[in-house]
Amino acid sequence: MTAATNITLALSKGRIFEETLPLLKAAGIEVTEDPETSRKLILPTNRPDVRVVLVRATDVPTYVQHGGADLGVVGLDVLLEHGGQGLYQPLDLRIAKCRMSVAVRADFDYAAAVKQGSRIRVATKYVSVARDHFADKGVHVDLIKLYGSMELAPLTGLADAIVDLVSTGSTLKANHLLEVERIMDISSRLVVNQAALKLKREAIRPLIDAFAAAIPQE
Ligand code: ATP
Ligand code: MG
Repeated sequence: MTAATNITLALSKGRIFEETLPLLKAAGIEVTEDPETSRKLILPTNRPDVRVVLVRATDVPTYVQHGGADLGVVGLDVLLEHGGQGLYQPLDLRIAKCRMSVAVRADFDYAAAVKQGSRIRVATKYVSVARDHFADKGVHVDLIKLYGSMELAPLTGLADAIVDLVSTGSTLKANHLLEVERIMDISSRLVVNQAALKLKREAIRPLIDAFAAAIPQE
C-alpha cells in the first residue's frame, strides 16, 4: 500500500473560489469550510489528500510556479502579467468571464487622439498587456501603474484612459466612463506546476480530466 500523494490547490477568495466550487464538486472534491466566514488560509476538503490554499489573485501563479501549490486557478489577466513561466496551462475553465478594455472619460475623444498620433496617458494594473496592445496599434502611450480603483484616474486627471476589466459595464457607467476598445476576452485558467505534474501525475491527471469534463459550455 502506497501513501496518498498530497495535492495543494491555490485559489483566490471571491468569484474565482465561488466559480471553481462546481468544478471541484464534479471532481468529487468538496471544500468543507467557507472562506468568507473562516479565517483559515488552508482549507481542508472531503478528500484527505487534497487541500485548498487561499492567496491573493495575483499571487496564484507565483505559488504554483514555485511549488507552494501544485495547481491553481487564475484569470488570464493575471496570468499574462505574470508571464506564465514554469506553468503548465492545460485548461481554459471558462469561469470568471469578463473582458479587458480601454475606457475613457466621456469628453475625451479617443479616436481623434489615436488618429492624431497624440501621446495618451493610460492608467492600469495591466501594464504588460496594455504595452503590447498599444504597441501593436502603433499608439504612443505613457503607462501609469495602479493597483486598484482605475476608474478614478481619468476623473482626477491622472490619466486620459484606463485599461481595466469590464463585465456588465455598470462600474464604468457609474463613473461616467465609456468603453472605447475591447482588447481581449478574459476567463480563468487552470495552471499546474510542471514538476508536480511529472511527480504526482497519477493524482493530478484525473483532476485535470474531471475539470475538463465539467467546464461550463457557453
Ligand atoms: P481584489 O479585488 O481582492 O483586489 P482582484 O481584483 O485581483 O483582487 P477579484 O476581483 O476576485 O480579485 O478578481 C479575480 C479575477 O476574476 C480577475 O483576475 C479576473 O480574471 C476575474 N474578474 C475580475 N473582475 C471581473 C469581473 N468584473 N467580472 C468577471 N470576472 C472578473
Ligand atoms: Mg477585484
